[in-house]
Amino acid sequence: MKAAVVGAGIGGVAAALALARTGWSVTVFERAVALGEVGAGLQLGPNAMRVLTALGVQAQGMRPARVEMRDGPSGRLQAVVPFGDAAQARYGAPYQQFHRQDLLAALVAAAQSAGVAFEFGTEVGPHAIPEADLVVAADGIRSMFRAELNPGVEAAFTGQVAWRALVSGADLDPAATQLWMGPGRHVVAYPLRGGAVWNVVAVEERMHWAAEGWHSPGDPEELRTAFAGWPLGGVLDQVEEVILWGLFAHGPLPRWHRGHMGLLGDACHPMLPFMAQGAAMSIEDAWVLAECLRFGPVAEGLAQYQALRRPRTSRVQTVAARNARIYHLRSRYARAARGLGLSLVQRAPGGLLARFDWLYGADVTVRE
Ligand SMILES: Cc1cc2nc3c(=O)[nH]c(=O)nc-3n(C[C@H](O)[C@H](O)[C@H](O)COP(=O)(O)OP(=O)(O)OC[C@H]3O[C@@H](n4cnc5c(N)ncnc54)[C@H](O)[C@@H]3O)c2cc1C
Repeated sequence: MKAAVVGAGIGGVAAALALARTGWSVTVFERAVALGEVGAGLQLGPNAMRVLTALGVQAQGMRPARVEMRDGPSGRLQAVVPFGDAAQARYGAPYQQFHRQDLLAALVAAAQSAGVAFEFGTEVGPHAIPEADLVVAADGIRSMFRAELNPGVEAAFTGQVAWRALVSGADLDPAATQLWMGPGRHVVAYPLRGGAVWNVVAVEERMHWAAEGWHSPGDPEELRTAFAGWPLGGVLDQVEEVILWGLFAHGPLPRWHRGHMGLLGDACHPMLPFMAQGAAMSIEDAWVLAECLRFGPVAEGLAQYQALRRPRTSRVQTVAARNARIYHLRSRYARAARGLGLSLVQRAPGGLLARFDWLYGADVTVRE
């Protein structure tokens, strides 16, 4: 059986690999002439790491010992989520952060070893599909296939923009991922490649997204001004180049498949990045899709895939949107109350990590 996968992002390559491992002959069609958006960091929870291990992917990443959640303007520590050994012990898999380039390269290498063919510089649309028994559209947040399957449903601007940058150093503890939360904005910073670079994501609420594309070159000075006075360990001082992204999302989609065509990853569940789970969900999708297509007709397998994946990805979409509200509380009192609430949860059995059991503890590689 022949499968055509549209898009060589993390979701597309993971799907190609998972399908090849279950016997499909797979070709990935990617419109870019080389591997796509690579210059930033990515965190993967134990839920996704488990799938990567099952797929035999070995990528070099870093394991943060903890996430430190701080009030942005004051720098005051409000809560600590223990990842490191605690996540490994609780979920049997680590929490890791990667340079995207490293993760994508490892996925592509594993896919090629499993016999997947790649055709770069090839754009595929819903009306010009290569002949195949299965078409997996992993064509990202601006998916043409999504529009074809769900006319009138478009990802909308969420009122948030994100600056993304890689910097060469920061006066911060490399064992911790940092999250600073403040009125209408937040910053996340974590080290990559043994601390040689730091990944910075800074989010700010805005009324409009004016740029024509979904991202455009940003201004480092504008970024520094937006977070002026926040004690961020000098991480923004180092920024020389930055990309500004408009964050777009939409609610759960009614249709993920038609005939022998199915959607995967951001194409079917674009979400705000405030759970750090978009790529993780696409990796889970990949495994479940391949399992659903092991036996029986393709159309039935795709329907089963949607039924299994939609509730979980919808929940992550909802929680990610809720995090935006919690991170961006405006009044000093609300921010102090958030700190109090977090410290109470921290002291409950299992601490803050237990709040993520439904997410990190799920093992899609095990059939229930
Ligand atoms: C600021 C920010 C931080 C994030 N941090 C995290 C994180 O820490 N952890 C996490 O799990 N997720 C994170 N995400 C989300 C994650 O980046 C995405 O969910 C993930 O990359 C989606 O992968 P994908 O393969 O579905 O789509 P994409 O990566 O967008 O890949 C789609 C591919 O399809 C190609 N393509 C598109 N149309 C066509 C066509 N017609 N023909 C051929 N090729 C086509 C594109 O060129 C592209 O290569 C973050 C997102 C943002 C914005």
